[in-house]
Amino acid sequence: MINIKNLDHQYAYKISSLRRGNDGTIKHTCNIPYKSITIDMNSNCFLCYCDGYLPIPVGKVSDFNSIEEVMNSTIAKQIQDDVTQKKFTYCATDNCGIKYKSQSLPSFKLFINIDESCNLSCASCRREILMLKQGDIFETKLKDLKRIISWLEKFNEPITIVMSGNGDPLASNILRPLIKDFSPEPNQYFEIFTNGLLVKKHLAESEIFKKIKEMVISVDAGSKDVYEDVRSPGKWNVLMDNLEFLSNSINKNKIVLKFALQKRNHNDINNFVDLVERLGFKGIIHELNDWGTWNYYEVETPDAWTIVNGTYLEHDVLKSNHVLYNKTISTLKNITSKKVELSTMIRDIINAE
Ligand code: SF4
Ligand code: SF4
Repeated sequence: MINIKNLDHQYAYKISSLRRGNDGTIKHTCNIPYKSITIDMNSNCFLCYCDGYLPIPVGKVSDFNSIEEVMNSTIAKQIQDDVTQKKFTYCATDNCGIKYKSQSLPSFKLFINIDESCNLSCASCRREILMLKQGDIFETKLKDLKRIISWLEKFNEPITIVMSGNGDPLASNILRPLIKDFSPEPNQYFEIFTNGLLVKKHLAESEIFKKIKEMVISVDAGSKDVYEDVRSPGKWNVLMDNLEFLSNSINKNKIVLKFALQKRNHNDINNFVDLVERLGFKGIIHELNDWGTWNYYEVETPDAWTIVNGTYLEHDVLKSNHVLYNKTISTLKNITSKKVELSTMIRDIINAE
C-alpha cells in the first residue's frame, strides 16, 4: 500500500481535492499506467496522462536510467496492480473518464512538462513572462532533460513524445536539445502544444519536424488587435508568418488552432473561423480554464494587475448570467464551418439552451 501521508504537500493536496476510488460500480479497464509517463515541473514521474488524475509520483527522473526502470519501479508496480484490480484507489474516477468507458492507449506516450518557460504572458495563464535561462534549477532541469533523451535513445517500442502542458516547448531553453538536436527513430513521434511564434526559428530545420503527429497552436483570436491584446506580447505578423509557413510545409490536418473563449475575444469568433478556413487547418473553440491567474471574484482592494486585467468571472462569457452570454451563444450557434469544432462543454451548453 502506498503511504500517501508521506507525499509532498502539493501532491497530497491534489489527492484530497478530487474523489478517488471505485465504489464497486466501475467495471471498465485502464492500461494507462502501463503505457504512459508524465514528467512534471519538479521532474517527478507519474503514470497517467494527467498528474492531477493520478498524483502519486513514482520517482524523480534522476532515479531512473530508462523508461523500463520507471515502469518497473516499486511504486509503479503498486499503482499498476491497483488499477488492474479495478480498485482505482489513487485515481480521480469522477474526472478521468473511467466511469464512462475503458481507458486505453495503443502505444506508449511520454508527456514532458518540466519547464513552464514561455515567451508570452497571456492574462489567462500568467501575470508575467517566465523564462528560465540560468542558475541551479536551470542546470538540474537541463540534466534531467538529457537523461530523458537517453531514455528515448534506448527505448525500442513505438512512442509519442508530448510537450508541453505548462509552457511553450519552442521557447524553452531546457527543451531545446530535444527540439533541435534529437534524431528520432522511425517509431518515435511528437505532439507539440505551442503558441506557434517560434516554429520557423526553432522547429522548421529540426529532425523532429518531420515526425510531428499533431501540433496544437493557441491563437485565441482571428485579428491583429484582439491577438495582441489576449496573447501579449505576441505579434500578429509573426504568428501569420509562422502559420503561412506551416500551411506550405506540413500536412494541414496535423495542425489545430485553438481559441479559448473570453470577454476580450468574444467578438473575434467569426474572424477565427475565417482564419482556420483560409489556412486549411482544423480549429477548436473551448471554454476558458481557470488557472488561478485572475482573481475569481471581484475583491474590494484589487491589485494593480487586477485593475487592468479584471477577474475570471468577468471574462467567462459562458456563465449564463454574464452580460455577453446570449450574444456569444448566438455567434457560436451560427458557426457553419466543418473545420471548426466546439468543445464538449460548449456543445453541452448549447444543447441545453
Ligand atoms: S483510471 Fe483514470 S486516473 Fe487512473 S490511470 Fe486510468 S485514466 Fe488515469
Ligand atoms: S502561450 Fe500558452 S504557456 Fe505561454 S503564456 Fe500563453 S497560455 Fe501560457
